[in-house]
Amino acid sequence: MAFEGLTSKLQETFKKLRGKGKLTEKDVKDAMREVKLALLEADVNYKVVKDFISSVSERVVGAEVMESLTPAQQVIKIVNDELIKLMGSTESKLRHSNTPPTVIMLVGLQGAGKTTMAAKLALHLKKHNKKPLLVAADVYRPAAIKQLQILGNQIDVPVFSLGDKVNPVDIAKAGIESAKKQERDYVIIDTAGRLHIDEELMQELKNIKEEVNPTEILLVVDAMTGQDAVNVAEHFNNNLNITGVILTKLDGDTRGGAAISVKAVTNTPIKFVGTGEKLNDFEIFYPDRMASRILG
Ligand code: GDP
Repeated sequence: MAFEGLTSKLQETFKKLRGKGKLTEKDVKDAMREVKLALLEADVNYKVVKDFISSVSERVVGAEVMESLTPAQQVIKIVNDELIKLMGSTESKLRHSNTPPTVIMLVGLQGAGKTTMAAKLALHLKKHNKKPLLVAADVYRPAAIKQLQILGNQIDVPVFSLGDKVNPVDIAKAGIESAKKQERDYVIIDTAGRLHIDEELMQELKNIKEEVNPTEILLVVDAMTGQDAVNVAEHFNNNLNITGVILTKLDGDTRGGAAISVKAVTNTPIKFVGTGEKLNDFEIFYPDRMASRILG
């Protein structure tokens, strides 16, 4: 289960505070050191941890004594509030275009869960009475097109493909034209990934972006890769100006680093999360719910 280590460490720290009536400066300092270590062990970006601890400490020290809360509860509340703020405060909704179709381009490294997420997102839209079209523009990974077709079939969403011999830019353009003709209101483009970031991949994605001008460019990253996920997000963002991040594999034993740092490092919100291999294993990202999950 995700965040297990982080949650139990934070709970241990808070438990120590609970036994105390009034907190001394040393109590607070010790607690903050423990929270800091717990976050670093959870693979949260170092600068993010430093800033987080300094905001929390400042608020704990300056906190008005609230009659209704014990000192320990007050510290927990501040940590909770600051975690929520760090992860974006509120839900970040999917943008939509005033002139349909809304074009969503999914990008990311191979294996992150992009193709699966394309289908999950299509299913999510379908449940909200939208009419998505999936576009298979990953012409490099063997079987990616077939995989998307199988998934599309499972959820009864059409999949547009021109095979793997056509330029992805042309596939994306033709897919959007096809969506207009079929009166589909959302187009989800599954693009190619590589095992590592390379210039050729970035250039291809830039070309697609330029030609189709997507409403959303969502980066799919594997939460289990921790700080690497954040580095990948930074790199994609610098090249493509992504509009959001989707974290996959949050059901795994991810330590939490990516969920906590991505927004602060890239200034791009997490919009959705994948919590399993099945197409229903999909959630909207709510910073407050995620903070509750982390604090346990
Ligand atoms: P792509 O190369 O980015 O298109 O990745 P795929 O969509 O093919 O996914 C790679 C693997 O990760 C597949 O085995 C998926 O079933 C699996 N996967 C995708 N999303 C999740 C998730 O949220 N949780 C888990 N446990 N596995 C996932």
